[in-house]
Amino acid sequence: MIKAIRGTRDLLPPDTDLWNFVEAQVRSVFQRYNFREIRTPVFEATELFARGVGEDTDIVSKEMFTWEDKARAQSEKAQSLTLRPENTAGVVRAYIEHDLGRSGQLQKLYYIGPQFRRERPQKGRYRQFFQIGAEVIGPPSAGSEQPIRDAEVIEMLTALLDSVGLKGWTLHLNSVGCANDRATYNAALREALAGVKDKMCVDCQRRAETNPLRVLDCKVPEDQPIIEALPKISQYLDEPCRQHFAEVKAILDTMGITYQINERMVRGLDYYTRTTFEFTHGDLGAQSAVLGGGRYDGLSESLGGPKAPGIGFAIGEDRMILALQAQQATASVPVDAYIAPLGAGMNRHALKLARELRDAGLVVDVGDEGFRLKKSFEAAEKMSARYVVIVGENEIAAGAFAVKDIKKGEQATVNRAELASSLRTKSE
Ligand code: AMP
Repeated sequence: MIKAIRGTRDLLPPDTDLWNFVEAQVRSVFQRYNFREIRTPVFEATELFARGVGEDTDIVSKEMFTWEDKARAQSEKAQSLTLRPENTAGVVRAYIEHDLGRSGQLQKLYYIGPQFRRERPQKGRYRQFFQIGAEVIGPPSAGSEQPIRDAEVIEMLTALLDSVGLKGWTLHLNSVGCANDRATYNAALREALAGVKDKMCVDCQRRAETNPLRVLDCKVPEDQPIIEALPKISQYLDEPCRQHFAEVKAILDTMGITYQINERMVRGLDYYTRTTFEFTHGDLGAQSAVLGGGRYDGLSESLGGPKAPGIGFAIGEDRMILALQAQQATASVPVDAYIAPLGAGMNRHALKLARELRDAGLVVDVGDEGFRLKKSFEAAEKMSARYVVIVGENEIAAGAFAVKDIKKGEQATVNRAELASSLRTKSE
């Protein structure tokens, strides 16, 4: 038997009802904040992620699905391609490629789509997973660097979590500073790590040399006490970064959004500057981060684009669904009516009636004239339909149908002209 590849999965009904509900809420909430959708390709040049996300990150150094795309003509060079492990780099590439900054306005973009990382699969961690993300990016003259933008995306996330009904989350907040502070902080980390790195995991030994900030991403239990004792980033922020962070916090305070400062949270991607944040959820076990995001003021320039500061986030949709399911959330769409054709030649009449009712906005399913009535009722009950509408020769001739309320067991005769409105009022 051919099976889905490890780390990938099929999403099946009724679970997909919940996925669709979440995505509908996302589109509705993000639209109210004036975000528009962007769709970028699922694969890109490997170099985009190497330069954007960072060579020393776990994502780029270990987790990417990369292949060599053969040259088709002699004049063409083989190109290294990668399935996108995240979508911010792709959005910023598109921003640069299409010169989206030329209007001088902020671009507020959102996406929903699959991402790919070769991670060790476990609950809440997959090799193909879905992210829902948004980015606010634009020239500095449009205010793209301002703390209000950071606070607004975080506030929008709280509105989204309210609208999908997710309860019990925690917002973790940090500032990782800018390029200036990064150099001094990295130097302080290198110094502090010099004496202790030999006791750490091999990844940390390497990171201590190449990119000490990434040591803070380490999950190896034995390394944690050493990491806890390292210098804290807040002591190395320069004055503009300090003020920026203070203003983000002040706006969140005014809006009544509570958060925890978490100085270890530097997030596993190199492009972050200043504000970083994560929302965690207690029901998710080891993979507790539902979403993460932050500011990336230098990303556009590091990809060869104009100065275009930005802030964004990515929600792990799989994890959001798991957390909702842990709260027993479902989002099934009820079937209003099951049409039971009774006797030879009735299928065509049943489908015609179904079309009328569907055009009127009702959710309708249709049986088959070969079914006995008992079988039709069983099918209707299995799909939790509210009503069975019987379509037989007599009904067609009379222009009125026998309608049975499955729960109450009551039956009534309803004229064709009133059928849709009658089913609708009854099902409300
Ligand atoms: P990141 O792009 O690493 O900042 O991740 C943002 C969010 O995506 C995380 O908070 C997770 O909810 C989700 N995520 C990241 N990697 C995976 C994965 N392998 N499987 C499922 N969700 C993931």
